[in-house]
Amino acid sequence: MRFLVTGGAGFIGGHLSKNLIDDGHSVVAIDDLSTGRMENLSAFSDDKNFQLVVESITNTSVMDRLVSECDIIIHLAAAVGVELIVRSPVDTIETNVMGTENVLRTARRYRKKILIASTSEIYGKLTNVPFNEDDDSLIGATTHHRWAYATSKALDEFLALAYHKEMGLPVVIFRLFNTIGPRQRGRYGMVVPRFVRQALSGADITVYGDGNQSRCFCDVRDVIPAIRGLADSPEAEGRVFNIGAKEEITIIDLARKIKTMCNSNSSIILVPYEEATEQGFEDMRRRIPDTTRIHELIGWIPKIGLDQTILDIVSQFKSDGLSADSITERPVIKRVVVD
Ligand code: UDP
Repeated sequence: MRFLVTGGAGFIGGHLSKNLIDDGHSVVAIDDLSTGRMENLSAFSDDKNFQLVVESITNTSVMDRLVSECDIIIHLAAAVGVELIVRSPVDTIETNVMGTENVLRTARRYRKKILIASTSEIYGKLTNVPFNEDDDSLIGATTHHRWAYATSKALDEFLALAYHKEMGLPVVIFRLFNTIGPRQRGRYGMVVPRFVRQALSGADITVYGDGNQSRCFCDVRDVIPAIRGLADSPEAEGRVFNIGAKEEITIIDLARKIKTMCNSNSSIILVPYEEATEQGFEDMRRRIPDTTRIHELIGWIPKIGLDQTILDIVSQFKSDGLSADSITERPVIKRVVVD
């Protein structure tokens, strides 16, 4: 099959493209390299079954050609990372709304199956974990830019489901929970690569808030088979699926775990949210997926534990060198050392 992967040079896009090529498929990736990186493609960029088009998904003529030539679209291109979203809200909204609109309209023109990446941010500040696909969402005020991401992705979901209902377009939506793994970078906020980098360099490990907020981290190498399984399943069409792990950990425990696994002398410090980003941000206390639906449809369960993933991320950082993920740490005024 010929796959069109939007955002193909991103962290998840790179892993997905490699997996598809290894299975004998051909992949055309479109990526504007805003957050995507050529390093994510280095293992297979010379493969005859791979092609990268450096372009925005809002370019209608390029998208028209690429969609017309493919068998199926996996739409991953989006503005991602809480810090990036808070810093560049206009780009976030324009990429996620106009970009997806263009991809969907083109998919409809050629009647191509399309899988759309969405996000657990959609559940917003909901507290009744685990989150089920049919739960309400609880999005914060429009003055908090973070919620532009969830709202733009919710609009993508509405539009995709509307195309399915009105025009019979084969669409599948998957909501990714915290996804981590080798080659992810911490520049735009993601906590695990950030902590690993801080621990390896001896910098303070910056835990935001009181550190008792928790997350479930799923290895990208588990996420890819979930996406592939949904792509292969006609019964998935017109539906929404959570993809995520169940193993819950508080952020302060995550910091301790990473410090120990890196054999690090770093201090673990608490950073008030107001200092964490330019404008501060609202955080979620807990975020756990209910993955019954995807399990019942394709039998998917994640297999790689958090410790294994962290070990692999640490060795990736060691072989790439820390300068590959340069971050300017913000000066912390109210520095509270906890460990
Ligand atoms: N976080 C943190 N220190 C950092 C970056 C993030 O304590 O340097 C926290 C963040 O406040 C959140 C959690 O780690 O509670 C996960 O953040 P991430 O941006 O990775 O994902 P999110 O679940 O917020 O989308």
